[in-house]
Amino acid sequence: MLRDIDPGYADDEVLRMLREEVEEVARDVVRPAGKELDAMDDHSGLADPDSRYFEVMDAIHEVVPRSSFLPEEFGGDGMSGKEFHTVMETLGWGSPGLAMGFAVDVMPPLFAAVTFDDDLREDYVEPWLSGDSHHQGCWGVTEPRHGSETLMIDSLLKDGAEGVPPPDVTAEKDGDQYVVDGAKASWVTAGPMSTHCALHVDIDAAEGSHGGLCLVPLDSDGVTQGEPIDKIGQRDCPQGDLAFDSVRIPEQNMIMTPEILNPDTGLVSFDQLLCFTSCGMAAVSAGLARAAFEEALDYAREREQAGKPIAEHQAVKLDLYEMFEKVETARAYSRRVTEHVWSRTLESFEFDASHPHALAAQIYCKRTAFEVAHKAVQIHGGNGITRDYPVEKMFRDSRVKLIEDGTLDVLGLEAGTGVVDGY
Ligand SMILES: Cc1cc2nc3c(=O)[nH]c(=O)nc-3n(C[C@H](O)[C@H](O)[C@H](O)COP(=O)(O)OP(=O)(O)OC[C@H]3O[C@@H](n4cnc5c(N)ncnc54)[C@H](O)[C@@H]3O)c2cc1C
Repeated sequence: MLRDIDPGYADDEVLRMLREEVEEVARDVVRPAGKELDAMDDHSGLADPDSRYFEVMDAIHEVVPRSSFLPEEFGGDGMSGKEFHTVMETLGWGSPGLAMGFAVDVMPPLFAAVTFDDDLREDYVEPWLSGDSHHQGCWGVTEPRHGSETLMIDSLLKDGAEGVPPPDVTAEKDGDQYVVDGAKASWVTAGPMSTHCALHVDIDAAEGSHGGLCLVPLDSDGVTQGEPIDKIGQRDCPQGDLAFDSVRIPEQNMIMTPEILNPDTGLVSFDQLLCFTSCGMAAVSAGLARAAFEEALDYAREREQAGKPIAEHQAVKLDLYEMFEKVETARAYSRRVTEHVWSRTLESFEFDASHPHALAAQIYCKRTAFEVAHKAVQIHGGNGITRDYPVEKMFRDSRVKLIEDGTLDVLGLEAGTGVVDGY
């Protein structure tokens, strides 16, 4: 019987129990709900208060409480890198779209918690910890005019440009408030139903551009949340634009000023933040790859042609082996990188995790998910392109992964800059 050979995971009783609990929810709740939401004709209903999306999030929170997402130092229960990988890989195995809705939810309270500000904790962290899943967070970075370039922190500087251009969404100081104006791209995950946004802005643009990050309650006057956009995959998790028209927030909500985003200060910089998101993307993609491989294997053992299961035909057997090899290497590498990122950030507080390694994990796992899902459809023959078999959705979901959080080319260029300069 083939089993998980990584002793750090397989022989750890706590991790094994966590994985079994999350796997039960992923199998019994996440995957069936993902199928139903994916098939909805009226995509706008995805974000309705009675959408099954919220039921899924509540079920996940039963086994992975929100407090586990916040490090102990920031008032949560903390989660190790191994636990994080286990949770995200298993949810990705259930449905990669819903896994991202679950992950992005933590952004506003996490940023609020790192300030150690009592008021922000009371306003943003406590209600989130005690609230149900209708209290949802999102992360607004990309804009209609700024997509890939928001991720090219090192490569744009290297190319002679002045670095990542400032956001078009601005925040102007007015007394003890900031006034926020502008729009984020239609790609904000969970944007259509979120109650809070961690928003990247350009502070006091008239006096020279400074990047900043603020917390915006999305029920504030002047906020418009777009309808979920229709798309080919990850249809069970909505994306939509966010528009801000003279939206007023208290000055303490501007939680990340240019100093904090600047790597020279030694404080959390954007590339360290992207190390975390890369770990999440890698783990979810490894889970998706595993799901597609398992579906293909089950099918190939059952489906007979020329008098025997197709798994016994050499070409198919070789395909299945290659899928297995890809899944195992993706999982092993993303686990390793996640543990590294955790040790250099939330465990040592050095915040010097290797960005190229984190990007490599994200790129490798996303590519693996696509290649394995593609092959899984092929092994299903005609059945693979019907909605009756889960591999059809997995394939569409894996295609979306090649763009979400950065295209493979752009992430590769960014990682390549780090490799050429730093290896
Ligand atoms: C499912 C999903 C969820 C998302 N969630 C969020 C979210 O929660 N919050 C958020 O802010 N954003 C989110 N995004 C946005 C995402 O980060 C961007 O879509 C992505 O970075 C690409 O930007 P773009 O779509 O504007 O494409 P563009 O930047 O316009 O790129 C178009 C093409 O040009 C190529 N390209 C661009 N620049 C270069 C270059 N310098 N060198 C070589 N090739 C280049 C790209 O590889 C791509 O093929 C999400 C996107 C998706 C698909």
